[in-house]
Amino acid sequence: PGAQLPFDPEKKTVVVLGSGWGATSLLKTLDTSDYNVVVISPKNFFLFTPLLPSVAVGTLSSRSIIQPTRYITRHKARQVSVVEAEATDVDPINKTVTFKDNSGIRGSVSATTISYDYLVYAVGAEVQTFNIPGVQERACFMKELADAERLKSEFMDCVETAAFPGQDPKEIDRLLHMVVVGGGPTGIELSGELHDFLEDDLKSWYPELAGRIRITLVEALPSVLPMFSKQLIEYTESTFKESKIDILTKTMVKEVKEGSVVLQMPDKTIKEVPCGLVIWAAGNKGRKLTQDLMAKLPNDQTNRRGITVDGYRWQHLRHRRLHRYLLCTHCPVASQQGAYLARILHQMAKQDSLAARLSELEAAKSEDAPAHVTETKKVDEKEDVKRQLAKIKPRPFHYSHQGSLAYIGSDKAIADLPLKNGNFATGGVATFLFWRSAYLSTLFSLRNRTLVATDWLKVKVFGRDVSRE
Ligand code: NAD
Repeated sequence: PGAQLPFDPEKKTVVVLGSGWGATSLLKTLDTSDYNVVVISPKNFFLFTPLLPSVAVGTLSSRSIIQPTRYITRHKARQVSVVEAEATDVDPINKTVTFKDNSGIRGSVSATTISYDYLVYAVGAEVQTFNIPGVQERACFMKELADAERLKSEFMDCVETAAFPGQDPKEIDRLLHMVVVGGGPTGIELSGELHDFLEDDLKSWYPELAGRIRITLVEALPSVLPMFSKQLIEYTESTFKESKIDILTKTMVKEVKEGSVVLQMPDKTIKEVPCGLVIWAAGNKGRKLTQDLMAKLPNDQTNRRGITVDGYRWQHLRHRRLHRYLLCTHCPVASQQGAYLARILHQMAKQDSLAARLSELEAAKSEDAPAHVTETKKVDEKEDVKRQLAKIKPRPFHYSHQGSLAYIGSDKAIADLPLKNGNFATGGVATFLFWRSAYLSTLFSLRNRTLVATDWLKVKVFGRDVSRE
């Protein structure tokens, strides 16, 4: 009853959980004529996460880095069903998914369970708070579109409150101190973008305050950006020094309080630092749905950080009549896995139809054959089907690393690019232009490319918009 999914009983059903990097890349490549395809995600769009820090400071408009999932599915060979809902339970034994509509507006039905033949599990991750007191309640995250919008609004609120007539100078310094937690790519890019906003726009809009805005980056490890080569780490540190962004390494955030952050310094002393805003970029962890699912597959779990997968594991899972998984939160890996899985699903559909044809041919009794010629033809076809079946040998997944790129502010970026004879590490303004063109070409559609390029041009000409939403 009600809105029916495009269902063909002759075809197997693929349920895709998520609309992020993995799911979107899969949907782009998947031949939907092979399957009934249902996509379930609480967001009805794909978010280009690498450019999220740019939205947080108004360099880009939030609309420019999202793409409705239906923009992709509407061009597919067979209709795909897109459901805006959150999966709440996966039953890998009975092969069902339960999902519910978690949005503000709900109809008479807001939860249901469907069956699948294959489940593509691409739900991504959530923010890791390590249960540090105050983080969940008081820190700004940098994970979803709403986080970037909230950060922009709160940052401008700090600036406007500091500009309030007669504001206490100590309070001005507190309000204008921004603390970024986490020296991974997210924390670094965000600090760089905040600095640009300050240099390019706030200096002229709020000349009396600009010199007092401070950015501090806190990192628990001995260095920032551990995934980059040593010279690029040093280059980032010196660029930050010039930009007056303080980096505190070997320093851990212990608590986020109202108006301050509690730090454990390298010498283990505790220091409470007043600040206007704490931005939490301290990494991600698996979702509760993922943890629940791991608990249901104890024999398949060999690690505790995520669902165990490897190049062959999917075959193993299929053999045990469960389903296959796709799980990675790192954008390029998830993206390559998505495309890989789409190809595998196509091979499997072909395998199924050939196997069905073979059993048809084998079941046909020789006495049914009307003539000697027909019988020969059947034998020929059987041999041909067998040959085609033998040719289908799905290969395991291999990640091809294209390099690491990050924007570090002041129109500079860093890049570690793997070449045949070693690694090529580069940083600076030319790398920034490369960063921009690489991100533009990675954006999934011409529409998004145009929007992002136009935003960059608008900011160059008119500056960023400092009005609060
Ligand atoms: P991350 O996990 O890479 O970095 C988080 C950092 O926070 C770690 O270095 C950790 O030591 C630190 N940290 C954790 N708890 C802390 C505490 N209490 N106090 C101080 N420091 C603390 O997280 P990310 O930067 O959000 O990146 C997530 C993933 O996305 C990574 O795989 C990353 O490579 C990828 N990513 C890549 C890019 C890019 O390539 N440009 C951009 C964004 C994200």
